[in-house]
Amino acid sequence: MVLERIKYLRDELNKLGYNYYVLDNPLVSDYEYDNLYSELKALEEQNPELVTPDSPTQRVGGISSGFSEVKHKYRLYSLDNTYSYDELKKWYERVEKECGSNIKLVCELKIDGLAIALTYRDGIFTQGATRGNGIVGEEITQNLKTIKAIPLKLFENVDVEVRGEIYMPKTSFEKLNQENLRNGEKPFANPRNAAAGSLRQLDSTITAKRDLSMFTYTAIIERANEIPATHWESLQYIKRLGFKTNPNIRLVDDIDGAIAFCKEWETKRFDLDYATDGVVIKVDSLACQKELGFTARAPKWATAFKFPPEEISTRLTDIEIGVGKTGAVTPVAVLEPVQLAGSTVSRASLHNFDEIKRLDVRIGDRVLIKKAAEIIPKVIKVVDSDEHEALPIYEPPTLCPECHSPLEYREGEVNLYCSNEHCPSVLKAKLEYWVSKEAMDIDYIGPSVIEQLFNLGLVKVPIDFYKLSIDDFLKLDLVKEKSAQNMYNSIQESKKRPFSRFVTALSIRHVGKETADIIVNEYPSLNLLENASVEDLSTIEGIGDKIAKSIFEYFHKKENLLMLEEFEIYGLNFENNIIERSSELEGKTFVLTGTLSSMTRDEAAEKIKQKGGKVSSSVSKKTSYVVAGDNPGSKLDKAQNLGVIILSEDEFLKMIIKT
Ligand code: NAD
Repeated sequence: MVLERIKYLRDELNKLGYNYYVLDNPLVSDYEYDNLYSELKALEEQNPELVTPDSPTQRVGGISSGFSEVKHKYRLYSLDNTYSYDELKKWYERVEKECGSNIKLVCELKIDGLAIALTYRDGIFTQGATRGNGIVGEEITQNLKTIKAIPLKLFENVDVEVRGEIYMPKTSFEKLNQENLRNGEKPFANPRNAAAGSLRQLDSTITAKRDLSMFTYTAIIERANEIPATHWESLQYIKRLGFKTNPNIRLVDDIDGAIAFCKEWETKRFDLDYATDGVVIKVDSLACQKELGFTARAPKWATAFKFPPEEISTRLTDIEIGVGKTGAVTPVAVLEPVQLAGSTVSRASLHNFDEIKRLDVRIGDRVLIKKAAEIIPKVIKVVDSDEHEALPIYEPPTLCPECHSPLEYREGEVNLYCSNEHCPSVLKAKLEYWVSKEAMDIDYIGPSVIEQLFNLGLVKVPIDFYKLSIDDFLKLDLVKEKSAQNMYNSIQESKKRPFSRFVTALSIRHVGKETADIIVNEYPSLNLLENASVEDLSTIEGIGDKIAKSIFEYFHKKENLLMLEEFEIYGLNFENNIIERSSELEGKTFVLTGTLSSMTRDEAAEKIKQKGGKVSSSVSKKTSYVVAGDNPGSKLDKAQNLGVIILSEDEFLKMIIKT
């Protein structure tokens, strides 16, 4: 039984490894691979007599053909990894047992790219190779020479061999994939595969066109003026030699310090333009490293903490069709529930029907889904399988699932739309948007209340909310006096929202919150807005012809004008409180990061704008202040590096009140 399982795991892992390392085409997520790997490792530890030399636990990586092979002078190892903090603590206990207590550690981000080894003689780059199986790699010197971050000549005349990770920035990866799609080529699954594919080009002019870079993380110094005693010092030395090193590193006193670093980067990593899949923790003292040595495939003096998976595969059981407030019909993947990045996922985005066709997703397929910080999970590919071909090809719907009106494409858009303006799904989606935080911010009224109000015929369009009495709310399921009163009050309260919120809530085509803010800044009342021509509107910075036309048409449609008149009768606010706007913060640009305790970031941004200041999403030299709340992101580090003034929440509040 055990033998069978071991055989199965060995074959499966070898197959997955071949697809991952050699073909750059992973079949499953890293998390799934790592789970199978841990199972095999545990079984082999219990039954050492069953370990064979071809077991994936005994070797590293893989070699592809096409390049000449090169034997590494110093073996390139892999890293042991874990997803658990307890395991990290156990690793540290083993280190302490061997080397004594108070062992300092260096924490580095684990860059999700491709390991390479570079040889320098007398400070000149002479040879570069992939890791391959750790003993033999592929000779890719010419291709590596096209990468600007790899120095051809060092600042000192030394003999060294360095190791680093070649990566492709996420933005360049997206661009390359779009280009591939336009040319009818297959997109890469992730930036790691894109980097590997770009590096393993037999024609180095292709590699040169790809945006690749490298972070160097280790040097084996054979001859130099300095011989560092610690890993930390060697990182500084590598930098002085002219290599690019990752700035996000930290020397810590013990494993608790390393765990704090891991926790910090679990979310901050999403702000980086390169993919990271964990943190590498290394013993700082090179003497201790020597004492600890290596296992068959990895050093004992280092380990990797892997971040919770962002990707996992599961079965797609259905494709549901949703109709949004613009009438856009969007497909949603219904999935067999799986755990992903700390939550259970049972639905994922499929974007649009073009995407389904591109991915050739079929109901019943096994699919890989991905979740990246706060973003709704999305289906990224079909997991290759024999079952796929037997499944029927998915055909997009032709009729609206709600009102059965024909679906249509609009010029220049990829979405399908319901042709019926009065489609109940569209009306309900507009009502839901009306009450949302971003629009009129009406508490106590959510989708289920809207569904009931709609079905009872009490609310069809937003103006109907303002015609409701307390008695109307009492007609709803489980609604008693108190909540009826709350709902009623909340609606009355919303009448005082700023005019820009009202414009946002109208769901005018192409006009979201940001655009509504820009327009209302120039046309702060309904009267002014109604009288603006397309030309007037399109002269506003940030408003193109398409938006200008859409706004003009909205305010010149008879049925909309009648509705606006009704809103006026019910006392909604049609003017922005211009007096409140001032110029104390004029010329100042703020960036907000982290959680504020006294207000949301949106509210803080509103306050800054009211005082004439600007809010930006990224830190640059031009940023005047960075307001840092709790758990600030990497924006804070960037501000520190650039010397931008950092304000605590208290300091920010004082500034807002004072000005
Ligand atoms: P690894 O990628 O987990 O770790 C070792 C590598 O980390 C090193 O070779 C180096 O390239 C890299 N690294 C990045 N930053 C580093 C730093 N600061 N310091 C040191 N090293 C750093 O190990 P591996 O042997 O390359 O691959 C094994 C992993 O690959 C598995 O854990 C799995 O997640 C993945 N894999 C996935 C599949 C799949 O089908 N999805 C198949 C095979 C392997």
